[in-house]
Amino acid sequence: MPSSSFPVKVVWRPEPPFKVTFFVWAAVLHKIPTLDSLQLQRRGFQFPNRCELCRRNSESTDHILVHCDMAYKVWCFFIESFQFSWTCPCTTGDLLQSWHGLKFSKEGRKLWSLIPHAVFWMLWKTHNELIFRSTLSNQSAGRSGNESESGSVGAAD
Ligand SMILES: [Zn+2]
Repeated sequence: MPSSSFPVKVVWRPEPPFKVTFFVWAAVLHKIPTLDSLQLQRRGFQFPNRCELCRRNSESTDHILVHCDMAYKVWCFFIESFQFSWTCPCTTGDLLQSWHGLKFSKEGRKLWSLIPHAVFWMLWKTHNELIFRSTLSNQSAGRSGNESESGSVGAAD
């Protein structure tokens, strides 16, 4: 669960497409389908939990969107490009709440405040694309590797 109260004003923005805002809302509530949440939902059904972005750590909402190496590099790019300083937030909600562009003009602050929505969406799309590619390559590897094994899964028809 988020470590702080729900950041309504920074989540529900009129500028991004609704599907992006909806995704950010779900992410802050930890309601997006990550492997850690799927393991909790399917008790007794064990499967490996590995982040497809870094392939090193286990996957969770806050890992994918905040702490994963890929995510962290993106956040640092923006922070360092505009010479802000920061301490990496604990959660997706904390990141949204701490994302202030105080040194910008009013318009600049508005643009700056939309960066988390764009980055969260990009990271999620990239994460899903990598899972899709990984699944496809596993399926094709499985097919070519099991051709001589009659009676294996997938050879029923
Ligand atoms: Zn990762």
